[in-house]
Amino acid sequence: MTRSLSCAIIGVLLTGCASVQDLRGKVDVCEIHLTKMRTERIGQPRVNWDLSTERGLRYAEAMTESFPHFQPDTSVSGCNKFYLMYVCDDCVRAERDRSLSH
Ligand SMILES: [Zn+2]
Repeated sequence: MTRSLSCAIIGVLLTGCASVQDLRGKVDVCEIHLTKMRTERIGQPRVNWDLSTERGLRYAEAMTESFPHFQPDTSVSGCNKFYLMYVCDDCVRAERDRSLSH
């Protein structure tokens, strides 16, 4: 095994398959609440709704209209993949209030 190949393998072992994907758009102001959003580094977003159900469709509709920039639940995967996204504190509150009332 060559020295450079050994170094490459050690590098992969040390860093794993970690990567960061930037999901932020160009605008950092929430279009619903007109507030400046903060950047969050999150794990794999987990979808908590099923669009094949009436309840899931209502949730997706509410998300679009009332809290498009809430902080989604995340799941841990074997690969350390992370995402940068904008989060609006007012959207987080709106999503939490909706979840508590349904
Ligand atoms: Zn918002």
